[in-house]
Amino acid sequence: MSYIPYGKQDIQQPDIDAVVEVLTSDFLTQGPKVPAFESAVAQKVGAKHALAVNSATSALHIACLALDLGEGDWLWTTPVTFVASANCGLYCGAKVDFVDIDPNTYNISVDALTNKLEKAAKENSLPKVLVVVHLCGQPCEMQAIKALADKYGVKIIEDASHAIGGKYQGDYIGNGFYSDVTVFSFHPVKIITTAEGGMALTNSDELAGKMDSLRSHGITRDPELMTHEPDGSWYYQQVDLGFNYRMTELQAALGLSQLGRLDDYVAKRHTLAERYDGLLKDLPLTCPYQHPDTYSGLHLYVIRLKLDEMSVSHKAVFDSLRAQGVGVNLHYIPVHTQPYYQQFGFEADDFPEAMNYYREAISLPMYPNLTEREQSKVVSALKEALSL
Ligand SMILES: *Cc1c(COP(=O)(O)O)cnc(C)c1O
Repeated sequence: MSYIPYGKQDIQQPDIDAVVEVLTSDFLTQGPKVPAFESAVAQKVGAKHALAVNSATSALHIACLALDLGEGDWLWTTPVTFVASANCGLYCGAKVDFVDIDPNTYNISVDALTNKLEKAAKENSLPKVLVVVHLCGQPCEMQAIKALADKYGVKIIEDASHAIGGKYQGDYIGNGFYSDVTVFSFHPVKIITTAEGGMALTNSDELAGKMDSLRSHGITRDPELMTHEPDGSWYYQQVDLGFNYRMTELQAALGLSQLGRLDDYVAKRHTLAERYDGLLKDLPLTCPYQHPDTYSGLHLYVIRLKLDEMSVSHKAVFDSLRAQGVGVNLHYIPVHTQPYYQQFGFEADDFPEAMNYYREAISLPMYPNLTEREQSKVVSALKEALSL
């Protein structure tokens, strides 16, 4: 039986040629392709600096460090995200807390954020960093979030792992109008891929400099950044405790080639989403809501079952779809319910909208090469699963 996954990369001959060309060149890492990929992405989305790294997880880590997140500080994020959006805070020794989601967009709720910040200000426990996540590729309400962050002196990281190619108020995500750092992921299920890979974008020279150093051992070869004159032309200095988070030339060449098709990919996802909207409109479920300020990257197409209008359970629908060869998924298990996070004392009901979402959500297959025939198969399998 053919299996339809929930997400899948698209690799074309020019991608293969670009990677093979690097293999036979002088540089497999630390050559010209990484900076070329960085400038191409920066130019595309309108950011001043772009730093390619080996994953979005690494990008989140160095972004937090560059923003001086450390012991005693708080990082806040949404519970409905991949664990990496929260773990970056723990890597830095900070404490992590969550803000419940908006029941329509499933992104961080501006109302919940407003209330929680007000309370934290009184208790002297404001977060240093807020990681907002553009879930499914739909940008968060950045203007309102930025206004709150400015009022309370909070730094913003946009986890845009789902959202490259998406737009907020007509401008590409990544331009940094409303945040300090934006992070992209290039994992194969995401919008464009470098196999593993990520990027941190910023308009701040200072943050870019820090992240550049942190991704490569905290080492500098720039005499201006050294504590004394170089001992000689071989000289470098380690001025910070960094990591090896570098992206390879092979990955950058693949990314550069994929980037040329970014807008087509996102447009294709929109065509598929509109078709799903039409095919699903009479079923007992909620299709994704798109906020009028946003053009989603549409990494995911998440439906929510109206459980009180059906006799089958969420789990039964999910299992039936999988058994019928439809590789549905659930994005995401609320992070605060993960065993590792239990040590911090979270209760499931601390974030009730996130839990409501978790009880009803299913990600349907969504990727540029999904055919209409496959899409129709997904919908008939869903009807079968719902016993319709
Ligand atoms: C995929 C993803 C990440 C991690 O990306 P990697 O490149 O695999 O490290 C982080 N946050 C979100 C929201 C993601 O979907």
